[in-house]
Amino acid sequence: MKKHIAVVPGDGIGPEIVKEAIKVLDCIAEKYDHEFTYTHVIAGGCAIDQFGKSLPEESLQQCLNSDSVLLGAVGGPKWDDVDPSIRPEKALLGIRKELGLYANLRPAKIFPQLADASPLRQDIVAKGIDFMVVRELIGGVYFGEKKTEEINGELVASDHMNYAEHEIRRIAHTAFQTARKRHHKVISVDKANVLDTSRLWRKVVHEVAKEYPDVEVADMLVDNTAMQIVKNPAQFDVVVTENMFGDILSDEASMITGSIGLIPSASLGDSKRGMYEPIHGSAPDIAGQNIANPIGTILAAGMMLKYAFDLDTEYAQIEKAVEDVLADGYRTADIMEDGKKHLSCSEMGDKIVEYLNKA
Ligand code: ATP
Ligand code: MG
Repeated sequence: MKKHIAVVPGDGIGPEIVKEAIKVLDCIAEKYDHEFTYTHVIAGGCAIDQFGKSLPEESLQQCLNSDSVLLGAVGGPKWDDVDPSIRPEKALLGIRKELGLYANLRPAKIFPQLADASPLRQDIVAKGIDFMVVRELIGGVYFGEKKTEEINGELVASDHMNYAEHEIRRIAHTAFQTARKRHHKVISVDKANVLDTSRLWRKVVHEVAKEYPDVEVADMLVDNTAMQIVKNPAQFDVVVTENMFGDILSDEASMITGSIGLIPSASLGDSKRGMYEPIHGSAPDIAGQNIANPIGTILAAGMMLKYAFDLDTEYAQIEKAVEDVLADGYRTADIMEDGKKHLSCSEMGDKIVEYLNKA
């Protein structure tokens, strides 16, 4: 298979971790006889420094011309004072918007080898945590009309939340298709006991569900879901929800795993082309020291193989190599007990490649 990947290293630890993910992609390409080519795209704070904006037109074009986008991280304190209209994070919003990425997928998975890192009780962790939050990304209250006005001598603010059927339908399809690549179970999260948007959400999700008779579907109220994620996370496979609920629940879901450096995410749209990145930020406090954990980015590259290119076996190989490396006790500094010896960022990348080659 021939694929062209737009690589956006970004800022802070971005370039270091992306380099390791590319090592892994190159190893997979060689092993399975694929051809992956890369274009290095300048976006984020580094683009502000060079071009005065976070997403130059040429960078955007490079993303649009690719089969998929792999991103490290953008931003950092260096750009805290720049004009809000050109902030580094705007690059991400710009890419999402232009690529039409309306779904965000974030796995919450605990590697058994790192079970102690979870803040949850070990008997809960032992039941196995492995689910995916599918969040609607470009609708809902974050994008509705907002205003603050003075009424009867005091300020009144409002944020309008709306969803159209087509916006719900397309994210529902993403969720059911994701479930088909996993364990065929979708829980749709809403607040249908009080919100009209949620009642419409529920209706549309169940309409779409009829097209996926092989996938089980159930509804759950968002407050209950927040509770169930810490009480019995083993019950979940795919959780689909609207933008704001998803923002909150996906953070909760990743925090129960206890290791931010290990979690990838994908932003998807109608086409196969999406954007893949780790969930953590640019970690400026450790940038340039070769100590960052590259696993989140390596798994993001893995998700790209699975969701953008349908290379399920290759994805599984990467995941297994990561698990085996962890099982054999290899760690980066962020997941190692104080004082114990650990691998650098590039050594971790090399180790995962070594395990891939042995498999
Ligand atoms: P953003 O606003 O971009 O999300 P942030 O400041 O909220 O950034 P991060 O940049 O993710 O958060 O950093 C939070 C903490 O986690 C920092 O101490 C950072 O060093 C650490 N961290 C983040 N990613 C990694 C990683 N891949 N490896 C090791 N430590 C990391
Ligand atoms: Mg943050």
